[in-house]
Amino acid sequence: MDKLVPSLPTPLQLLTDDIISKAGIQLYIKRDDLIHPEVSGNKWRKLKYNLDDALRQGKDTLLTFGGAYSNHLYATAAAGKALNLHTIGIVRGEVANEKLSPTLVFCQSQGMKLVFISREEYKRRHDPIYIHELLHSFGNPYFIPEGGSSALALRGVGEMVEEVHAQSGIRPDYFATAVGTGGTAAGILSVGSNVIAFSALKGGDFLERDIQMLLENRQETGKLNLQTDYHFGGYGKWKPELLTFIRGFHNRHAIQLEQVYTAKMMFGLFDLMQKGFFKPGQIVVAVHTGGLQGLLPELRQM
Ligand SMILES: *Cc1c(COP(=O)(O)O)cnc(C)c1O
Repeated sequence: MDKLVPSLPTPLQLLTDDIISKAGIQLYIKRDDLIHPEVSGNKWRKLKYNLDDALRQGKDTLLTFGGAYSNHLYATAAAGKALNLHTIGIVRGEVANEKLSPTLVFCQSQGMKLVFISREEYKRRHDPIYIHELLHSFGNPYFIPEGGSSALALRGVGEMVEEVHAQSGIRPDYFATAVGTGGTAAGILSVGSNVIAFSALKGGDFLERDIQMLLENRQETGKLNLQTDYHFGGYGKWKPELLTFIRGFHNRHAIQLEQVYTAKMMFGLFDLMQKGFFKPGQIVVAVHTGGLQGLLPELRQM
């Protein structure tokens, strides 16, 4: 792991503006986007113990799943390169000879072997029999599930919560995070903190169950508040209103959000503040989970 030294602890910044003061809360942002230039945000937190485990087992190859714009594939490719591990990315529904997404071009540049499968086959990504066969056919590499959201991922995310306590003494009423697979939300819950989880996908109600599954009957977890109305049309989709929000947020706070995850969370948080969701005096820590590699170029502000 020495070659993958991150900048820890990541800063915890207090945000101030009119909406936040009207709501009477203290809103902090945990800058995990600054954790590592390529293995950013929650992907570093989730990969940490998976990579440790792979190295301990003496594996020389990692195999994982993702879509053509997956921050997790991007992070895994960079981490594998830094640690001298081969990486195999099983990619959803892309035809190999079509133009590759910038994310996949990067993955290849890091030496990741890309294997394209149909959307139909991709649906089997959690099926133990399918995974077993797949691993066998690639000489039994170390397996990391989609999004990096394994049981080991929860431990790494839990450390982010401990880091907040250690650097500030703060025990927030809520953490806020964007949700894709639910690993990050589950990791925060697993150490007893409450989470407001903003689904980046449409029809995200199923995430409640996915998050509970990841928690594997743990006792004394935090409480989950799942918000499913801030998806802006679905995963990877957005509306002009969201892009306007990203620009406005940058103007007020000089912090860059991206349109796939973190802006949906922050938009949702500000909407909840305006709707009186919070009690005055409450403390909220919004996690900047990174993902800026996937930022729309026209939104990049200096
Ligand atoms: C992957 C990702 C998420 C979603 O995390 P899950 O643990 O899969 O729910 C949120 N934000 C960013 C920036 C991500 O890259």
